[in-house]
Amino acid sequence: MQEDIASPKRTNELLKRHGLVLKKSLGQNFLIDPNILNKIVSAAHLDDTKGALEIGPGIGALTQQLAKVAKRVVAVEIDQRLLPLLEETLAGYPHAAVVHGDVLKLDLKQLFEERFQDVDRVSVVANLPYYITTPIIMMLLEQKLPLENIVVMIQKEVAERMAAKPGGKEYGSLSIAVQYYCDPEIVTIVPHTVFIPQPNVDSAVIKLKVRQQPPVEVEDESFFFDVVHASFVQRRKTIYNNLASKFFTKETKGTLEQVLQAAGIEPSRRGETLSIEEYAVLSRHLSQALK
Ligand code: SAM
Repeated sequence: MQEDIASPKRTNELLKRHGLVLKKSLGQNFLIDPNILNKIVSAAHLDDTKGALEIGPGIGALTQQLAKVAKRVVAVEIDQRLLPLLEETLAGYPHAAVVHGDVLKLDLKQLFEERFQDVDRVSVVANLPYYITTPIIMMLLEQKLPLENIVVMIQKEVAERMAAKPGGKEYGSLSIAVQYYCDPEIVTIVPHTVFIPQPNVDSAVIKLKVRQQPPVEVEDESFFFDVVHASFVQRRKTIYNNLASKFFTKETKGTLEQVLQAAGIEPSRRGETLSIEEYAVLSRHLSQALK
């Protein structure tokens, strides 16, 4: 087993010895606080029957801790320069493998079939590269991978939007998209001092418990999400005006009033006040009316 690397001294020593200068463009902010690592790992509830997929292992600080509790760890890293270093830091953990690639381009279904055959459940656990937080999370959810949960460090502001309830300024199409697939919970807020180098934004660890079933019945998911997106295109506009611009002409606008009435939604409300249940009812009525 290797010495833990989550400390400023060990991280700097490893980077120096391997001649590595971190790349801001790849979101390389490495964790140096063992307490935060513990919080992330324990939120995922891993054990020796479960697997962990890590996105962006960096120099392996989190990977090591995952390997101590999970049956299998697969870590996808885009930066080839880190591979020899990871080989060194993960040397004592034969059940932890590194895959070189861009997580947004990999065939994750195939990766799951090949790498996680012998585990009961898989969690995604990561300190995500911040420049692609939302695309990564939405890609994981939309592919409907067999995940138990996703525990990730992301920008605090994005975590708050994902977990937001109707009525506030954080609530938007991202909240609804995430909550359609998961039950979100902010585990902890993290100061920027626990990273090397320190990012400019505050961070949070969010746990997304993946739902077996969506919380609402939706016939056509893609249309449902179109309705949600359209409702937030101009946040200050009413639901009526946003939907009218997207789905109706001057001549057909009258139908929208009937749709909103049938769905029990006041036309003067704003998109940010509607619950996910109301969006489901609305998209059902709207889809009928547009047929
Ligand atoms: N897990 C390490 C830690 O906590 O110290 C590093 C986290 S760092 C915030 C993000 C990592 O993601 C970096 O190692 C970076 O090279 C990697 N990365 C960036 N874009 C990626 C992508 N598209 N696919 C896979 N890894 C990526």
